[in-house]
Amino acid sequence: MLPESSDVVVVGAGNAAFCAALAAAEHGVSVLVLERAPESEAGGNSRFTAGAMRCVYDGVDDLRQLMPDLTEDEIAASDFGTYSEAQFFDDMGRVTEYRTDPDLCELLVRQSRATMRWMRERGVRFQPIWGRQAFKVGGRFKFWGGLTVEAWGGGPGLVEALTAAAKKNRIKIAYQARATALIVDDDGIRGVRVRHGGKTVEVKSRNVILAAGGFQANAEWRTRYLGPGWDLAKVRGTRFNTGDGIRMALDAGAMPIGNWSGCHAVGWDRNAPEFGDLSVGDNFQKHSYPFGIMLNANGERFVDEGADFRNYTYAKYGRVILAQPGQFAWQIFDQKVLHLLRDEYRIKRVTKARADSLEALLQKLDDVNATRALQTIKAYNAAVRQDVPFDPNVKDGRGTNGLAIAKSNWANTIDAPPFEAYAVTCGITFTFGGVKIDQDARVIDSDGAAIPGLYAAGEMVGGLFYFNYPGGTGLMAGSVFGKIAGDSAGRRAKT
Ligand SMILES: Cc1cc2nc3c(=O)[nH]c(=O)nc-3n(C[C@H](O)[C@H](O)[C@H](O)COP(=O)(O)OP(=O)(O)OC[C@H]3O[C@@H](n4cnc5c(N)ncnc54)[C@H](O)[C@@H]3O)c2cc1C
Repeated sequence: MLPESSDVVVVGAGNAAFCAALAAAEHGVSVLVLERAPESEAGGNSRFTAGAMRCVYDGVDDLRQLMPDLTEDEIAASDFGTYSEAQFFDDMGRVTEYRTDPDLCELLVRQSRATMRWMRERGVRFQPIWGRQAFKVGGRFKFWGGLTVEAWGGGPGLVEALTAAAKKNRIKIAYQARATALIVDDDGIRGVRVRHGGKTVEVKSRNVILAAGGFQANAEWRTRYLGPGWDLAKVRGTRFNTGDGIRMALDAGAMPIGNWSGCHAVGWDRNAPEFGDLSVGDNFQKHSYPFGIMLNANGERFVDEGADFRNYTYAKYGRVILAQPGQFAWQIFDQKVLHLLRDEYRIKRVTKARADSLEALLQKLDDVNATRALQTIKAYNAAVRQDVPFDPNVKDGRGTNGLAIAKSNWANTIDAPPFEAYAVTCGITFTFGGVKIDQDARVIDSDGAAIPGLYAAGEMVGGLFYFNYPGGTGLMAGSVFGKIAGDSAGRRAKT
């Protein structure tokens, strides 16, 4: 049974929603979380993640505050470097082509460190991303690409910790409770209509926080807003983020904003299921392409695989793969780099070919012009700059000479057996378009005024990301704006 009323209602039960619920509860008000999914599938996209979170840190002392369990030996074996506010601003500006909303971006960057500490104080544990964000050089793990910290236990661990914190703080969680509409009048929010246990009921509340994700799991909206072909993309995460929160907000007058034709999308196993599978999590992704090349059905390269660290290219390359004939590509590697492939390459459910000669490998690649593929690889091998040393920890400048599509870094000849190839298609993560919020996470209407009592956080906020995205920012943004939304709603509920 749902309560008849609650001081604050939070729609969604992912990272943004729980951060909002926890921050609201700190004001001593009653908080109800509505989760559309059953408990077994609860937690949204957040649960599918590796839990990687991009945050500012000045060095080991900052990291120690987040990870007090770090041992002296672990610290001695790691070169964590720093990630300054200036670097974070720079990354957000560069990858969004300077379109990111400056006010929201400033909050994201400047609140990232404090918000991580706040989460830690509420029981979320963190660890360094040794496995995926650092390579061992001279006996030490050197971190690269501004992404150093992940939640303990990845996305499942994060959701588990947040759920436990919510329960500890007497926040009620209703599963299989799908919010369908906001109840709103001239004075603002009055409540929310919910489909629960086969019935539609109303929960009264003057403060509703929408944190119900983007519209990536809605094939019709994908085609409508992202464009033709996007109906064919696979959904990497939850099947429940179909744009409900965005639609409810728009129906209440919210201003749509941001990159509605844009999204985060990656290279994802060609034979992965249509929606995410919690038993595999994010492991259908194949993110070591900077160390190899990608070929399409015509046997041709189509993108600079080494344009930047994977953290700054992976989220836009799904779109590029979707645009290839048949919407797929094969990633090709040789023996020299196999040890660098991420853990996700070694799972059972993988579309993979392996052979001891290039000719034999190319014959095994479904739907690829093998003759042309061999010509492409030979031309690529001949173009690799041998005068620059290979170094996976930095943008090493070891590129190619004279190719129509250059590879800018980490270029190695593909000539040492065994050879391996992995088939990928486009996996969509989340959509970039959403609703406008202000610095208090209040939802702004299309005339520019705040809708009293309505807040939003997480994927469904528009204006932060355009075209691309720096890895680890989705969770961080959800936490920062979730906390702000909860704080604003909790404060208002007390007045
Ligand atoms: C495979 C994968 C790996 C990823 N890895 C990372 C990573 O390592 N680091 C990172 O920063 N980001 C990562 N991301 C992106 C990240 O998951 C999102 O940016 C972030 O989790 C969004 O949080 P959120 O709370 O806004 O949405 P979600 O976590 O998706 O939560 C939305 C919630 O709303 C619920 N909901 C939807 N409709 C309704 C409704 N009508 N009524 C009630 N509830 C509703 C959903 O069930 C869900 O609980 C990854 C995503 C995927 C899919």
